[in-house]
Amino acid sequence: MSTLLEISHLKKYYTTTKAVEDVSFSVKEGELVVIIGPSGAGKSTVLRCINRMIDATDGSILFEGKEITTIKEEKSLKLLRRRIGMIFQSFNLVYRLSVFQNVLHGRLGYMSTVDSMFGRYSEEDKKKALEILDMIGLKENIYKRAGELSGGQKQRVGIARALMQEPSLLLCDEPIASLDPSSSKIIMDQIHKMSKERNIACIVNLHQVDVAKTYADRIIGIHKGRVVFDDVPEKLTDDMIERIYETPIAELTVGLEKGQVS
Ligand code: ADP
Repeated sequence: MSTLLEISHLKKYYTTTKAVEDVSFSVKEGELVVIIGPSGAGKSTVLRCINRMIDATDGSILFEGKEITTIKEEKSLKLLRRRIGMIFQSFNLVYRLSVFQNVLHGRLGYMSTVDSMFGRYSEEDKKKALEILDMIGLKENIYKRAGELSGGQKQRVGIARALMQEPSLLLCDEPIASLDPSSSKIIMDQIHKMSKERNIACIVNLHQVDVAKTYADRIIGIHKGRVVFDDVPEKLTDDMIERIYETPIAELTVGLEKGQVS
């Protein structure tokens, strides 16, 4: 497996906050990497620097062998973003549009401005969208408005849309934070399947350490904008979890349970 993404000494400062101090790690093709860490540790900022939703303050990000922190032209950014899919905690779907249309949006990065304005998708794209929706178990719902779906179904539409992009990397920012346990399992199973069957590298930000341990090839622990752990799940000890979260394990468990109830 060759290296797909290599982040070196990434730094992101805001006027009042040092969101990311010093983050370095690499991701191989098809690898499923989970980033854990307390709220405010900088996990989301790292993902947003990778797809250039925000600009890094310093450091380097090599993606498919190219430095991407310095890309300026819109055309090159469009090329970059279609190789990087993203799914969000809040799904980011267009709720008034159908499931089918939302999934087709994954092809926009491949179309001319005029074709995308008028929604002129090719027959090939439509066929592909149907195949993906069938694979992900949403074929019965294709003409439903996305807003009518359950949370778990909405996230499956998010995954289907990302798959339409044919990405080599998928960034997942807290993909199960709004879901119940059974929907969470379906979503994590799908992300795992994408990584292994389609060789798509996935970086998943998660709060739940147990879920991270179940699905990750590798876990990265971030604390106050720095990587403090980067290894296989088996090496993540309770001591290390306490260090990452700066909280005793017992309190952490209670905290998570409280979080689920509220
Ligand atoms: P996490 O995803 O681990 O919860 P974030 O990456 O969202 O952490 O945030 C890291 C830190 O950066 C936090 O202190 C947060 O308040 C701050 N931060 C995030 N975005 C902004 C912004 N746009 N402006 C100022 N501070 C920000």
